[in-house]
Amino acid sequence: MSEQQSIKVAVVGAGIIGISCALHLQRLGASVTLVDRNEPGHEDAASYGNGGVLARCSIVPVATPGVMFNAPKMLFGADGPLFLRWSYMPRLIPWLIPYLRSSSKASVEHIAKNLAPLLYDSVDEHRSLAQGTDAERWLHSCDYMFLYKDRKAFEGDAFGWGLRRKHGFDWTILEGGAVREFSPDLSPEYNFAVVMRDHGKIVKPGNYVSDLAKAFVADGGTVVRAAINQVDTTDDGILLKTDGEDISVDKVIIAAGAWSHRLAEKLGANVPLESERGYHMELLNANKQPTVPVMDAQRRFVATPMDGTLRLAGTLEFGGLDAPASKGPPELLLRGARAMLPGLEFDSKKTWMGHRPAPVDSLPILGSAPGSRNVFFAYGHHHVGLTAGPKTGRILAQHVMGLQPNMTLEAYRCDRFR
Ligand SMILES: Cc1cc2nc3c(=O)[nH]c(=O)nc-3n(C[C@H](O)[C@H](O)[C@H](O)COP(=O)(O)OP(=O)(O)OC[C@H]3O[C@@H](n4cnc5c(N)ncnc54)[C@H](O)[C@@H]3O)c2cc1C
Repeated sequence: MSEQQSIKVAVVGAGIIGISCALHLQRLGASVTLVDRNEPGHEDAASYGNGGVLARCSIVPVATPGVMFNAPKMLFGADGPLFLRWSYMPRLIPWLIPYLRSSSKASVEHIAKNLAPLLYDSVDEHRSLAQGTDAERWLHSCDYMFLYKDRKAFEGDAFGWGLRRKHGFDWTILEGGAVREFSPDLSPEYNFAVVMRDHGKIVKPGNYVSDLAKAFVADGGTVVRAAINQVDTTDDGILLKTDGEDISVDKVIIAAGAWSHRLAEKLGANVPLESERGYHMELLNANKQPTVPVMDAQRRFVATPMDGTLRLAGTLEFGGLDAPASKGPPELLLRGARAMLPGLEFDSKKTWMGHRPAPVDSLPILGSAPGSRNVFFAYGHHHVGLTAGPKTGRILAQHVMGLQPNMTLEAYRCDRFR
């Protein structure tokens, strides 16, 4: 056995980021233990309930120049996609101030520039990760369409489209009846659409993660069900303290999504992270469907045709990790779908709420923990974690194994917030 093959690495968190890191580490010869308090693919993880879109063009964050002006309408407007639990406001403010600061033109340009290398080849990265596993069946190539009322509304988003153009994305524009020729069930309220080619979707994101985990185990990986309470650095390596048996390894990656900061803070990382709560409503046997995943650019939700269901996903709610789900956001999603697909009927509906791991600057935290050669971070993928998972896993695994990734991790360092 070579020296590298004997390295024992634990990955904390079995969402899309954790399983991607674990598989790539395994393929590089490490002996890998994947630890999660739930089974991989469990519905508590954001990776279970997301919109399923491999949104490789989503390099533009939610907070862009003008967000201060638009926020009241998003929050108080009848169909505004922003929700706030007011009792949570005092805890939110220390995060909210730098978050709003990151909406400046220069910051958004920086974010787009550094999301692009994580997202641009993401569909290929998914193919390569899932190839030869049962997870492959959930992965489909498709277009991704943005819907607008008219050209003027599209031009209102010129800054974001300009950034996409600058970073190599191209698209086809459809106007008037051409929108419904492409996707016949869509409402005539949409007179303008942007079709992004060569995107993809995962039609059962939870099953995708659990099938990837099965492939990981079949190839010799270990999955442990335990909550990690603390990560201790010892002379021999790393000790993971659980509520059961402790786990001893050489190196560890913290990939615990919106909960990561609870461990990262104890490791000396000063990373402001919030849960940006999002919802989905899944409609069984919907009689109307878009032909590809669509983003209603004004109402800000996606509708993704999945395996026998139509999944509506979106909304932004600030209320922390522990508060129960609210009723308003899923109802808003359904109202949006009824407006998008006139005559929509379905057999039954199911709602879900999950936590997007949201750093103030919408860029993930990737790389070494402060002052440590054995502790690594891979979290904070905000709205694009499903898309960016496999690429993240590849570069983190290379970094952990002492190889040179083909991109620099400088922009994602955990100490950038000081
Ligand atoms: C409504 C909604 C729609 C979305 N749509 C899309 C989309 O269409 N495309 C896209 O690319 N992204 C989308 N996203 C974002 C994406 O889902 C997330 O960025 C991504 O799933 C984050 O993955 P993760 O592995 O970091 O976290 P998670 O999937 O949340 O996994 C974290 C795991 O860590 C475990 N964990 C946490 N703490 C501990 C601990 N102490 N010990 C043990 N285990 C622990 C948890 O149990 C969990 O399983 C969406 C998100 C939401 C909420």
